[in-house]
Amino acid sequence: MSDYNWCHNPDCHTIETQSRVRGTGDNKVLRTRKIALNSEWIRNSIYAYFCNQNCLHSFLNKFAREVANIRAVRQPSETPIKVEKEKYESYRYDWNGNENTRVPYQATRTTIINKNSS
Ligand SMILES: [Zn+2]
Repeated sequence: MSDYNWCHNPDCHTIETQSRVRGTGDNKVLRTRKIALNSEWIRNSIYAYFCNQNCLHSFLNKFAREVANIRAVRQPSETPIKVEKEKYESYRYDWNGNENTRVPYQATRTTIINKNSS
């Protein structure tokens, strides 16, 4: 098993940064960046395949249709929930041009409860 991946953005090697310059003298090139898979975090991350956000989003923009077709969504999904509303005493501050005065008001807290996970 290799301990690195090459960035999967097909245009990675065209981006002009010092980190991509390889070679000597008149034989210099911009090369696709190598991603070291040297941590659990990186191995479990999308950044195991893309050297940074710019390359990730360039790839997604270029292959958006193909990516969407990997798992096509033809109808919306729904999650059963229960919505609980709860009134409580809160306050805001009003500026009268000279000082802030504390003004109480009746606020509403809305809580969404997922029926699948309770
Ligand atoms: Zn890249």
